[in-house]
Amino acid sequence: MNNFDAIIIGTGAAGGIVACVLAEAGKHVLLLERGAALTFADVGRDDLRNQRLAVYGHNAGPDITGNPRVFVDPQGRSRIVRPYELDYHNNAACLGGGTRVYGAQAWRFHPNDFRMASKYGVPEGSSLADWPISYETLEPFYERAEWELGAAGDGASIQSEIPRKRNYPLPPVPPSPQTVALQTAARQLNWLTSPVPLLINTESYAGRPACIECKYCVGFACPTDAKNGTQNTVIPRALATGNCHLKTSAFAEKIETDNRGIVSGVSYFVDSRRETARSKIVIVSAGAIESARLLLNSHSSLHPAGLGNEHDQVGRNLQGHLYPRAYGIAPGRVFNGIGPGVTIATIQFNHDNPGIIGGGMLADDFIKPPIDFWYDSLPPELPRWGIENKSFMRENYTRVMHVRGPVQDIPNPEGRVTVDNAVRDKWGIPVARLSGTTHPATVEAAEFMRERGEEWLRASGCEKVWSAQPGLILSGRQHQAGTCRMGNDPRSSVTDEWGRVHSHDNLFVVDGSLHVTNGGFNPVLTIMALAYRSAEYIAQRV
Ligand SMILES: Cc1cc2nc3c(=O)[nH]c(=O)nc-3n(C[C@H](O)[C@H](O)[C@H](O)COP(=O)(O)OP(=O)(O)OC[C@H]3O[C@@H](n4cnc5c(N)ncnc54)[C@H](O)[C@@H]3O)c2cc1C
Repeated sequence: MNNFDAIIIGTGAAGGIVACVLAEAGKHVLLLERGAALTFADVGRDDLRNQRLAVYGHNAGPDITGNPRVFVDPQGRSRIVRPYELDYHNNAACLGGGTRVYGAQAWRFHPNDFRMASKYGVPEGSSLADWPISYETLEPFYERAEWELGAAGDGASIQSEIPRKRNYPLPPVPPSPQTVALQTAARQLNWLTSPVPLLINTESYAGRPACIECKYCVGFACPTDAKNGTQNTVIPRALATGNCHLKTSAFAEKIETDNRGIVSGVSYFVDSRRETARSKIVIVSAGAIESARLLLNSHSSLHPAGLGNEHDQVGRNLQGHLYPRAYGIAPGRVFNGIGPGVTIATIQFNHDNPGIIGGGMLADDFIKPPIDFWYDSLPPELPRWGIENKSFMRENYTRVMHVRGPVQDIPNPEGRVTVDNAVRDKWGIPVARLSGTTHPATVEAAEFMRERGEEWLRASGCEKVWSAQPGLILSGRQHQAGTCRMGNDPRSSVTDEWGRVHSHDNLFVVDGSLHVTNGGFNPVLTIMALAYRSAEYIAQRV
């Protein structure tokens, strides 16, 4: 079969959900994924080769060879980067996309995250804007994502800030010694705390077992399938309908248009063979960087600047999160080695911080393998090798407390994805070129949150506290978003509120690219909620 109701490009957080909704609605779907369906063994458990610490490469794609990008630093110098380098801004490229190896923090955005421009105004040089939809509009779809994939948490604890109609289907992860210290301190400081919501089965759910509390959550695959990504929840459901035709190792090269300029299908490579499939609708769910790249590379004589790019908006406003982090040495042992490790958060500072635009969430951290601790968490003055370093590691690995969290990005239109015609991937397709930085107001908010992190650790009894200074960088990486933002005005957005590209009735973008702003929270649950909303809309129209 070569004629589908819909072709979906990408099987990550959004693409997997869209495939499930459409297939269960009886639509015939072609689901294209550039990566492979990785097994637990394929992903492996190498502390130095994973999606979190990629010293010797990464473990969830894309391949190191043949997939370069170009990175332009804040000084304007450009260089070719490979997938495991930080400046590549990689997420993952495999069945399930980022959700195959993510940490599974499942935050809803705060209602104010949807009205940032109304609340704070628009700082000079930024493209801060309100979403075309409100939290209340998205609320039922957040709930659906939590219940269909399986989320654990305690909604009542933050109901005053982020209202919900129904609690999580699963109870939160149990507290650790670190949780107790942080919670006691937060009470003294009068800060609101909650368990960290996670798309992890704290009890068996939907036919899959409970978490076995191993130490390898973030950056790795789950040994028992208790971590809920799209690859083990909605994609199997889509395939079970018989309506969804999945092709892995299939790289979408171009969205095809006919001689009237109307979207007609997708051409893609399977190995080095080019194939083309036709469809009534095309849905781009390739992640914020690759979705923008694909639209830009799908140019033709009728669309010389690429699809949806009549107003030079595709690829702009690339956002992610600056991630301030603080560390402190607790009086006693706080590390119990029980995964996932992230247990307690405060959303006290997501908004209404004097002199700051936005803010962010702070939480304790996933269990870190010792080498990751060494790489990421040591005091700045400590030598990185030698007896002093070894002593510190031996005495403090189980005593160091960590807090960190994402800070709301203030979007900068110059933080962007373009394509570089001079650098091609293994199929000869121009690669993504990443340039610009976030807005300086983001750095101010990150600095404020870094100070709050230190404050929390001091109040928790830590004797020595240190932290990393945030800098003015491009913030895309694993939380990449914003490059095809939704909005009502085609001059300042790429799609409407459903993800439909303004200039093409049958072309949709559904993934992190849609985010107008990226919240002061990990983004995946919002990507999933938007995917449910758009998919229901599409299912009624195709
Ligand atoms: C280690 C790690 C930890 C994370 N932890 C968290 C967390 O705790 N909480 C949270 O909220 N978020 C987390 N994230 C981020 C989260 O995974 C992403 O926000 C989310 O997956 C993005 O969803 P998406 O649908 O936009 O894109 P993706 O999930 O990236 O999916 C895009 C898919 O499209 C495919 N693709 C791209 N180009 C093409 C093409 N041309 N042809 C065919 N297929 C293509 C890719 O291979 C990929 O599978 C984490 C990510 C990583 C890597």
